[in-house]
Amino acid sequence: MTTATEQAAFDSLNPATGAVVGTHPRHDAEAVQAAVRRAGEAARWWAGLGFDARKRRLLDYKAVLVANLGRIAALVRKETGKPIGDATLETVLTITHLDWAARNARKVLGPRRVSPGLLGANLAATLQYLPLGVVGVIGPWNYPVFTPMGSISYALAAGNAVVFKPSELTPGVGVLLAELFRRCVPEREVFQVVTGLGETGAALAGDPGVGKIAFTGSTATAKRVMAACAANLTPMVAECGGKDALIVDADADVAAAADAALWGAMSNAGQTCVGVERVYVVERVYDAFMRELTERARAVRAGEDYGPITMPAQTEVIRRHVGDALAEGATAVVGGTESVRPPYVDPVVLTDVPEDSSAVREETFGPTITVRKVASAEEAMEKTNAVSYGLGGTIFSGDARRATELARTMLSGMTAINSVISFAGVPSLPFGGVGDSGFGRIHGADGLREFARPKSIARQRFPLPGMTITSFSRTPADMERLVKLITFLHGRRKR
Ligand code: NDP
Repeated sequence: MTTATEQAAFDSLNPATGAVVGTHPRHDAEAVQAAVRRAGEAARWWAGLGFDARKRRLLDYKAVLVANLGRIAALVRKETGKPIGDATLETVLTITHLDWAARNARKVLGPRRVSPGLLGANLAATLQYLPLGVVGVIGPWNYPVFTPMGSISYALAAGNAVVFKPSELTPGVGVLLAELFRRCVPEREVFQVVTGLGETGAALAGDPGVGKIAFTGSTATAKRVMAACAANLTPMVAECGGKDALIVDADADVAAAADAALWGAMSNAGQTCVGVERVYVVERVYDAFMRELTERARAVRAGEDYGPITMPAQTEVIRRHVGDALAEGATAVVGGTESVRPPYVDPVVLTDVPEDSSAVREETFGPTITVRKVASAEEAMEKTNAVSYGLGGTIFSGDARRATELARTMLSGMTAINSVISFAGVPSLPFGGVGDSGFGRIHGADGLREFARPKSIARQRFPLPGMTITSFSRTPADMERLVKLITFLHGRRKR
């Protein structure tokens, strides 16, 4: 999209080589406003198409994404530095979500009769979920397809138009996703991209034409976005960072747990909001777990098994967390501060890190984990729940029922049992956090409803004889009958 109000351009770089991948306009507030205005018109048209026509277009988009999978993955690799396999995987998972959102929108959001209750026996009650209009999506760079599309797919399926501001590190991926969408919906600007830095996102969040902001990024930025939204009372979904824990119970498959902990912590160079950052292992299996983990960790190579740290400033955070932990008495079982060699960071495994250390309490977003021995899974859960974040988490256990009960006590939006991050690939499961990890949900039925507003309609089919209540002509006898009825229906105490 080009407008007269573009002020300047910026480059996206390959973090592994520093080479320029693409040059994109810095859309200013005026350009954002124009995009939102166009989106407003497109939203009316898109909503008017109805569920079935939208479903056909979105399934067509899905097929176009599949046909362009290689191209998308190659661009993701260039802009983030991640291995092509990981770029392909996030695109594949995106496609399954798009499919689910398209196929389930009518069932979840479409008009339905609901019971009016006995007091409303003369009413026909209907509920449906209407689109919000324009949804502004502000995305991060770590999964530049999967993460924003988790909002975009569901917002589009719910009948909204989308204005997407991708991270300044991955603008090309955003532009490509919108370009491919236009092949399926050429008539109106239903899915637009505005590129730029933080101020472009701020302009989108503060635009009164936006019906909702879906933000994914850090907790600190979420607070700034929420402040901008407050000016217009614009609601928002905040998908923020995490400090997810993996718990290994005494009867767990230790080899599988170590394998999962390592992949959960190191894949994508640890730049995963639901990545494993802390591990708590019940003492009976601690030594066996550490043997499995360290052996595997020593074989994992930065630059081969995972890519560089995409955002250069993050290497300093990683170095600080590892340095703090070591200064506070931790042991580096694998790697150490020397593992931080920008743009790469080799795997770091730390043990005996004090629970108040930055490496345990703050999001590291690097290929590092802390491992602690605990007396029981209950103690592990207490420690898991003691941080301000609550996004995902993992439990490895040989007892499905006990693991499920434990999962319910984890202060997080999602818990995986005997695998890592599995919930993210299940389109029917809502995704989102508690506490500093944010609020609101993408994915699943909740993710569709997040981008819609409930519309309730109560239609009187006939007047209820002897029950004139909402009229100045009602009599004491009408009220007496009402009280008798309510006493009959609800007056008995049950113990
Ligand atoms: P940031 O918070 O730095 O940025 C997120 C997005 O917000 C970017 O597009 C950024 O633009 C934009 N932005 C920056 N400042 C403003 C502003 N004042 N107003 C509006 N928008 C603004 O996060 P990162 O991109 O660094 O992503 C990493 C973070 O995202 C981690 O904390 C991670 O845990 C979290 N995350 C959470 C996920 C979840 O689903 N819960 C998934 C993936 C990541 P620009 O890039 O141009 O600065």
